[in-house]
Formats: sequence, C-alpha cells, structure tokens
Amino acid sequence: NIFKDGLSKTRTAFVEKVGELITRRKKIDEEFYEELEEILIGADVGVNTVMELIDELRAEVKKRKIEDAAELQPVLSEKLIGLLKSDDENGLRMADDGITVILFVGVNGVGKTTTIGKLAHRFKSEGKSVLLAAGDTFRAGAIEQLEVWGQRVGVEVIKQQSGSDPAAVMFDAVQAAKQRNVDVLLCDTAGRLQNKNNLMEELNKIFRVIQREIPGAPHEVLLVLDANTGQNALSQAKLFGEKSGVTGLVLTKLDSTAKGGIVIAIRHELDIPVKLIGLGEKMEDLQQFDSEQFVHALFA
Ligand code: GDP
Repeated sequence: NIFKDGLSKTRTAFVEKVGELITRRKKIDEEFYEELEEILIGADVGVNTVMELIDELRAEVKKRKIEDAAELQPVLSEKLIGLLKSDDENGLRMADDGITVILFVGVNGVGKTTTIGKLAHRFKSEGKSVLLAAGDTFRAGAIEQLEVWGQRVGVEVIKQQSGSDPAAVMFDAVQAAKQRNVDVLLCDTAGRLQNKNNLMEELNKIFRVIQREIPGAPHEVLLVLDANTGQNALSQAKLFGEKSGVTGLVLTKLDSTAKGGIVIAIRHELDIPVKLIGLGEKMEDLQQFDSEQFVHALFA
C-alpha cells in the first residue's frame, strides 16, 4: 500500500498515539476524550474539525453504548472517512473530446512544478500526449525548472522570455496544443504571494484566455498545497479558493510530514475535493486521493 508507506510519519504521530491511548486508558471517559483531542490537534486536524469530530464520537459512543476504548477505533475511522469523502473523488475532470486543460496555482515552493512533472508522466504512461505551459514568468528559474521536468518526462514546454505576459504564454500554449492536437495541456502559473491582488488579476486573465480559446476549459484548476505547512496550507486554500475558481486540491510532501491530518481539516473547512497527493520527489510519487485508502493507511 503506497499510501501506507508515504504516510508513515503521520501514522506515527497519530495512529500510534491513539493506539497507545486506547491501551493505556481502556475506558472511554472525559480524560480519554481530552487526550484524544490533543492527539488530533497535534496531527494538525485543526481545532474546529477536532471539536466537531469529538462531538460526533461522543454521540456515537452513547448511541452504541460503547464503553471499551478498543471499540472506538472503527468508529473513529468511519467518522474520518465521512469527513473526507466527496462525490468528486473519481479523479480529474477531463474533456469529453479534444484538449483537456489543467491549470496549477499555488504559492512558490509548495511543489507545483514537481506535481506538473509527475502528472505529465502519469498521462504519458497512459498513452496521452502532453504539453506544458511555462506560465510562471515571474520567478527566476521557474521556466528552466519546468523544462528540466519536460526533458525528464519527454514532453515539450511552451515558453516565452522571463518577465513576459503569462496570458500571452497561455495563448501560445493553447495554439500549440491545438496545432499538435495534444490530449492534455498542463499550465504552470506564478506563485508569488507578496503581491496578492496582482497575482489574482494575472490568474483571472490567464483563465479568460484559456476559456475563450477552448470552450469548457480549464477543466480543472488545481491548488497545490504543501502539507508540511499545516494550518498555513489551510489559510492558503481559503485565500486562493475564494478568488481563483479552484476546483481541486493537491496536497504535496505528505511523505515528509507528521501533519497529514491537515487533509482532514482542509476537507472539513472548505468544500473543495482533494484530488491528488504527493508522496515523494520522484516521477511516480503522485497518487489519486481516495478517502477510504487514506484512512485505512492511517489505521492499518
Ligand atoms: P514550486 O515552487 O511550487 O514549483 O515547487 P517545486 O516543484 O520546485 O518543489 C519544491 C521542493 O519540494 C522540491 O525540492 C521538490 O522536490 C519537493 N517536493 C515536491 N513535491 C514533493 C513531495 O510530494 N514529497 C517530497 N518529499 N518533496 C516534494
């Protein structure tokens, strides 16, 4: 189970502690709930979400007349799956026919370029043709970095000079995608946060160009978040989610954090489905998100 390996740090922080708590306290009482609360908050599930989760657990424990702490684990799993599940869990939305356009947004350093590279690899191995658009013309080195991934995976990158208008890059990329009749166009965008309004305007302009040139596009706007940043990722999700038409989330670096509970907090506080998760730096380390697999990986 690739989830299980990738989530080992969160497992340790979360499941082992819950297991230890259950063995030690045996009975479900006030102190038990208090300690469970602490463990969940420690795994970055987020205070609001934890409070609600504990309330639901209390109700369920009462209803089923559970006294033995050992019987709580399956109830907790059930509740967590309930929190995480969305109707939109069946992978990425693709064009019925013609070009699928996926736009990536997110703050610098979260793993946007890496995710684009990984996804390009995934599509290629499914036999699809892919083109990349170097829409981050702002950050020094961003275009080159995308080109490195392009070479690694064997897909072409449409670019202009550093500092040029990202919407113009997108226009070129869309034309190229049409000419070459590609299946998927993956678009990088800038992630500077110091100038938020400008960035949101820039993203809107990119959005409009794509929409105008390919009806129905972009098919997904994926916000990439670094799970390591915990509650910070949640505030980024709120910021971008409100302003840039985000349709799905990518949580990266879950392999290197004990804060995997952030997935639960984000899912609970925002109605945006988690679509993909990053579990390493290699090409293959990208998984489609599945709430049941995720929770089972934490408890198995
Ligand atoms: P960008 O600025 O958002 O484009 O971020 P990058 O794609 O350059 O990634 C920043 C760093 O995070 C790089 O060193 C990546 O190798 C690393 N990274 C990206 N995704 C993952 C992941 O899922 N797991 C781990 N461990 N590292 C990752």
